[in-house]
Amino acid sequence: MKPVIALVGRPNVGKSTLFNRLTKSRDAIVADFSGLTRDRHYGDGRLGDHEYIVIDTGGFEPDSTTGIVKEMAKQTRQAVAEADAVVFVVDVRLGLSAQDQDIARFLRQANKRVHLAVNKAEGMSESPLLAEFHELGMGEPHPISAAHGQGIRSLLDAVLEPFDATERDEDGAEDGVIRLAVAGRPNVGKSTLINTWLGEERLIAFDMPGTTRDAISVPFERNGQKFQLIDTAGLRRKGKVFEAIEKFSVVKTLQAIADAHVVLLLLDATQGVTDQDAHIAGYVLDSGRAVVIAVNKWDAVDSYQREQLERSIEHRLAFLKFAPLHHISALKRQGLGKLWDSMADAYASAYRKMTTPVLTRLVHEAVEHQQPKRAGLSRPKLRYAHQGGQNPPIVVIHGNALEGVTEAYRRYLEGRIRAHYKLVGTPLKIEFKSQA
Ligand code: GDP
Ligand code: GDP
Repeated sequence: MKPVIALVGRPNVGKSTLFNRLTKSRDAIVADFSGLTRDRHYGDGRLGDHEYIVIDTGGFEPDSTTGIVKEMAKQTRQAVAEADAVVFVVDVRLGLSAQDQDIARFLRQANKRVHLAVNKAEGMSESPLLAEFHELGMGEPHPISAAHGQGIRSLLDAVLEPFDATERDEDGAEDGVIRLAVAGRPNVGKSTLINTWLGEERLIAFDMPGTTRDAISVPFERNGQKFQLIDTAGLRRKGKVFEAIEKFSVVKTLQAIADAHVVLLLLDATQGVTDQDAHIAGYVLDSGRAVVIAVNKWDAVDSYQREQLERSIEHRLAFLKFAPLHHISALKRQGLGKLWDSMADAYASAYRKMTTPVLTRLVHEAVEHQQPKRAGLSRPKLRYAHQGGQNPPIVVIHGNALEGVTEAYRRYLEGRIRAHYKLVGTPLKIEFKSQA
């Protein structure tokens, strides 16, 4: 599991700036992942082989008892509770304040690994001003400049040091087991669906080393394909059945998605696509995981609602157009059979092997059929292509003046490659490498 790092400190010390630096959010959807819980942002980051999750918090004043400040304090406490490590951010230019002392006191009680980042220290790594922060009793201060990217690497090295590198699973599950995460906000029907699955006769639970009886992770087999249901956020196992627990944990959801080969994104037909659904979907997209969408509670909506729903999916989840869409009823056991085929297809697509000769031929055929537009003086020249990765598949196209390839043309290429390889339920990334 990826370690979770919480950024804590009073307002204006530079937490959001540091958050952006640590997450390098490639995708606006992730950068704007705040809607789930108003005052916390979640993002993904990576340093070498270490992947991590960062939580940004608003400002923190531990003793506040009213209004928005109190709410922010609560959010910060929750973020710290969810975190494996805390980066306590202070501002060297303002110096040590009573508020910082209060926060330090709170963090000491929280019993987490805390690293002290003294921000806005550009060009000040040797400054005597740093010394006063020793007083906080949080260990050696790390001078950083979030805005200028200084000291970040050594701070991260220290933060990530106790955690193992993330295991990459480039070739898919060698043991042939598809790891499946069921993601969705509370009440969409996750536990109902899982219990329905596990109650089916055709579904055989099997033993797998490392899975304990109480863990939510359940291995089972369906149509000869082995699946492992991985720890799904917001569920608890009680005897033989799963039940939903009140609390919805974004971190758990992010970790489950990261740990999965295939994500089943569950929506509630009676509610349409809510902001929270869109945020979770945005995260799934950014994770690069294969995804299948199931609209649950299809039994409970009339034809007008169905139409509305189709439109809101088209509109709000347009960025997941590659994902197969199913309409199901977990309660009435409808539409469940085809889901399995879709999930297996999505998995196979994510790990599809594409050879250089075939990719190159596809690219040449695409160009013959429709040339890329001229950009300025030169026309992009697509020479050959190879596969740069799996899960999600990455196609690297080599040539000249490829900077000039338009987004529309990239989509055109994507469409042709998808069609040839019958890719469903997986993102397909296309990268361009121009020769000098
Ligand atoms: P937050 O409220 O703790 O999230 O703080 P922000 O990230 O919004 O930053 C507050 C202000 O400090 C902004 O004006 C930033 O541009 C500025 N700031 C952040 N990091 C640095 C830094 O490393 N050096 C300097 N000089 N300013 C910074
Ligand atoms: P979770 O929080 O995502 O695990 O959601 P639950 O499985 O606890 O389901 C929330 C509510 O939706 C419960 O009252 C279920 O009975 C109901 N529900 C789940 N699936 C269906 C379905 O397919 N149709 C209908 N009509 N209700 C459902």
